[in-house]
Amino acid sequence: MSYAFQKLPQLVDHRSSIPKKGSYSRRTRKITHRVWHHSLTKKTLGGSVAAAFARFHISLGWPGVGYAFIIEPQNVVKTKKGNRARIVYANDINQRTYHVGNSNQFSLGICVAGDYRSDKLDDATKASIAELHAALVADQIGNQDKSHHEMPGYSWKACCVYNYKEAFKLLNVSKPTAKTPATYKIQQGDTFWGIAHNLDGITVEDLITANPKVDPKKLKVSQTINLGKAKNTFTRKPSQPKKPQSSYKYPLPSGILRSGSRGNGVKQLQQALNAIYFKCGSVDGILGPKTVDAIRRFQMVYLPYEVDGVYGPNTRKKLQAVLKSKGY
Ligand SMILES: [Zn+2]
Repeated sequence: MSYAFQKLPQLVDHRSSIPKKGSYSRRTRKITHRVWHHSLTKKTLGGSVAAAFARFHISLGWPGVGYAFIIEPQNVVKTKKGNRARIVYANDINQRTYHVGNSNQFSLGICVAGDYRSDKLDDATKASIAELHAALVADQIGNQDKSHHEMPGYSWKACCVYNYKEAFKLLNVSKPTAKTPATYKIQQGDTFWGIAHNLDGITVEDLITANPKVDPKKLKVSQTINLGKAKNTFTRKPSQPKKPQSSYKYPLPSGILRSGSRGNGVKQLQQALNAIYFKCGSVDGILGPKTVDAIRRFQMVYLPYEVDGVYGPNTRKKLQAVLKSKGY
């Protein structure tokens, strides 16, 4: 079986030659999301190529590079249509590579080399993004596009910061868009989350708002719900001003704390971890091995894809939620 993307003249298949240390397991779910990344390394640097990313990811203990495709702006390929950035096919699309934590199972990872907080997408790169995207759509690999920071748990991540949707339009690629029907009949096993997950532009909140008489926890087979009509029905209420940390029994510090950090923030973190029985010894305000270990143990339970022993925004958010669930 060959895919449309494999016929792109700027694509090279390096699945068997790129550095690796093992193999990723196969997906157990169909790809629904195409997730766009950048490498956060300046695009002109020697290390801004697929093989270098592979060596870096192997150094993290991963089987190989975390993406299926890497677009390399510094390797320009001349094609009949003009200059194109090389696309490296690095991992089989059916392999569950590491790039979006809990969402890896159904997400295809595509990385454009470069740091687009300061780099600009050049035309050859935009064209490769547009053509790869069009080919994946034609191949029916995934049904929606997201940037890394649009995936659950990554809203804090500066990835990808380029306008990927704008890049798709560059070639005026016509996208066959199936129209969402106005209503939908519930089938065995459906959940609001599952239904919204597979549709572009409709959220779980939209479905709940558009179906006030339907209890999402008790969906009945053959029940009709509003679907296409649900689009944009939910408007977020202005969020409640957050309670100041000082009003909590265990206020949590902001920012990043890692091995060697010191101060009141570390004390607060130690008190919080001890309170929920991730014991880190005495509350001394020094982030030593015992505290690193407690953070790691906490992450293993609550953030299994981010076990690094470093306290940052994701760990803080989870810790806050766990404290709340214990009544603090
Ligand atoms: Zn990313």
